[in-house]
This record gives sequence, structure tokens and C-alpha cells, in this order.
Amino acid sequence: MAEILVLVDHVDGAVRKPALELLTLARRIGTPVAVVLGAGDAAAAVAAKAGEYGAERVITADASEFADYLVVPKVDALAQIAGSVNPAAVLVTSSGEGKEIAARLALRLGSGVITDAVDLTAGEQGPVATQSAFAASFTVQSRVSHGTPVITVKPNATAPEAAAAAGTVETVTVAFSDAATGTKVTSRTPRVSSGRPELTEAAIVVSGGRGVGAAEGFGVVEALADSLGAAVGASRAAVDAGWYPHSNQVGQTGKQVSPQLYIANGISGAIQHRAGMQTSKTIVAVNKDPEAPIFELADYGVVGDLFQVLPQLTDEIKTRKG
Ligand code: FAD
Repeated sequence: MAEILVLVDHVDGAVRKPALELLTLARRIGTPVAVVLGAGDAAAAVAAKAGEYGAERVITADASEFADYLVVPKVDALAQIAGSVNPAAVLVTSSGEGKEIAARLALRLGSGVITDAVDLTAGEQGPVATQSAFAASFTVQSRVSHGTPVITVKPNATAPEAAAAAGTVETVTVAFSDAATGTKVTSRTPRVSSGRPELTEAAIVVSGGRGVGAAEGFGVVEALADSLGAAVGASRAAVDAGWYPHSNQVGQTGKQVSPQLYIANGISGAIQHRAGMQTSKTIVAVNKDPEAPIFELADYGVVGDLFQVLPQLTDEIKTRKG
């Protein structure tokens, strides 16, 4: 089967969940070859994890440039590795950094890029990517018609599946371009942790909107989120009112999420909000207005006051979990 290069995202040796999802998808359409780029000891732990999730080969490159400079060193490495492996596709996580890497890499390889895929299948002429368009009104399937396809895949496109593979590790030395050291990282500030999953990677997102009524109103949203091990999202109306941080805003001017389950509470379903959550696998809406547009998009709807519905739901989930 054709080899599929997967850029394995990690933070100091901790592999990010979307990278495991990419390896799972790659195994469905070919033979996964993991690319681990880092500095120091991190690579060994990442390579082992990639093997546990189906990578037949792991190609590592160890250089301080990956940590000290933005994106171009990673593009240099991927272009060099793609040149020697000649894969059927290169898969990258659909993050801000991932999309920039993908675009630059496709330019280097003289091929095409597909962003924000929510699924991948093997086609006769190469991988076929599924994307969602126009507030989930359309599903688009596309493939790159020449060159090595570079595809970014949204987090939660699939559940990561462990699959022991050879995971043989090869190390390469990257010849960096002049542009590699063009943009230096001057400082890094760790995000203050809420203890909840990262919003864009969470399998379940519970969001609150203007219907929550006040900052304190988010208490019932957070309680439901915690009973499910979910991340908390917010509409722009709630963020603009100062009830929740902008880092949790979902939508056109916030974050794009694509969880297995999205629960919208007191959110009307404006197009700009949908733009950030329309590719969620299952959407549940709680709204006291039966005419709220969010119900057009929802798989399941509860017409009711969120302050009555959410505590009951939270209690029920806690009871069932024991
Ligand atoms: P509303 O539209 O006011 O809806 C509140 C809902 O709560 C109503 O449906 C109401 O029936 C329901 N409700 C009230 N009380 C209760 C209760 N007790 N129980 C149950 N339901 C209740 N919006 C985003 O979310 N994200 C974005 O990134 C974003 N970007 C934007 C970019 C631009 C350029 C523009 C112009 C707008 C953008 N917006 C964005 C704003 C967007 O247009 C909407 O104004 C916003 O999404 C509305 O938020 P909401 O649904 O929380 O509030």
C-alpha cells in the first residue's frame, strides 16, 4: 500500500490527540509513516507512541531550529522527507500552524492543498477528502489532481485507534533553507489550564450563549461539561458581554471545533456561530424558543429553560456514571 506521511504534533514529547487521529486515518488509506520533528529527548517518546498507533516507519529529525523558529524549519524537513519517501499524501493537523505548514509545503512540492478535511477515503487516483461547506449545507469531496496531495484534517475527524506496528525509527539530518531562521520565537507563555480538554481537540464541547444570562449562569454549563469530561465553549454574545473569555469563543471570529458531540445552550444559531461548529458529528440544542434557528442544524433539540434542563441532565449523567 502507498505510504502516507503524517506530521506528528507534540508538545515536549506529549503527542497531541489529533496526531493519533491522523495516524488512524492514514492506516485506512495506506501505510502510515510518522514524521517527528523536535529538539532533545522528546523524539523517542513520540516515536514510540506513533508506533502504538500504526506507524510502520517513524522518521525523526532532531534540531533546535524546530523549537526556535516558526514553521519554515518544519516545512524544510517535510519537503526533504517527502522528496525521499514519495508518499501518496502528506497529512497535517488543521491548526493555525498546521495550515501554514501545509500551504507552504504544497507550494514547495508543486502540488495542491486541501484544508479542513473531516474524513479521508482511498480513491483510485489518490486520497479523497471530505469537507463541509456553507454551514454544513453541502458536503464536498475533492482530491488533488497532480503532485503529492497535502491535506489538513480537523481534530475529531475520527476516534484514535491503537494498532501495534513496526514503528522502526530512522533519523534524518535536515538541510535548512535560508528562510528557516527568518522568524524567531522570542517567548512562549503557557496557557492557564482550566483542567478541561483543549477546546479545538475536545471530543465533547458544551457551549453557552446569551441565554445563559450572566457570567454566573455559566455555572450550569460548566457543571454539565465536567460531568461529560468536555470543554466549554461560548457564543460571541456571551464573550462580548464579558461572561466568558474570548479564548473559548466558537465561531467565525472564534475557534473552529468539530467534536463528536456539541451541546449548544441558549444559543440562537447565527451563521457566524455555525461557522465554528457545523462539522460537529452530533449537535444537541437547548433553547426556550422553538423557532430558534439552531434547531434547523441540531440532531436533537430540547425546547426548555436551560436552567431547568441542564442540572437535570448533569444529575442524570452523574447517576449513570455511578
Ligand atoms: P442570541 O442570538 O441573543 O441568542 C440567545 C438565545 O438564547 C435565543 O435563541 C434565546 O431563545 C435563548 N435563550 C434565552 N434564555 C434562555 C434560557 N433561559 N434557556 C434556554 N434558551 C434561552 N457569534 C459567535 O457565536 N461566534 C463568532 O465567532 C461570531 N463572529 C461574528 C463575526 C461577525 C463579523 C459578526 C457580524 C457577528 C459574529 N457573531 C459571532 C455574532 C453572531 O451574529 C450572533 O450575534 C451571536 O452568535 C449570537 O449569540 P447568541 O446565540 O448567544 O445570542
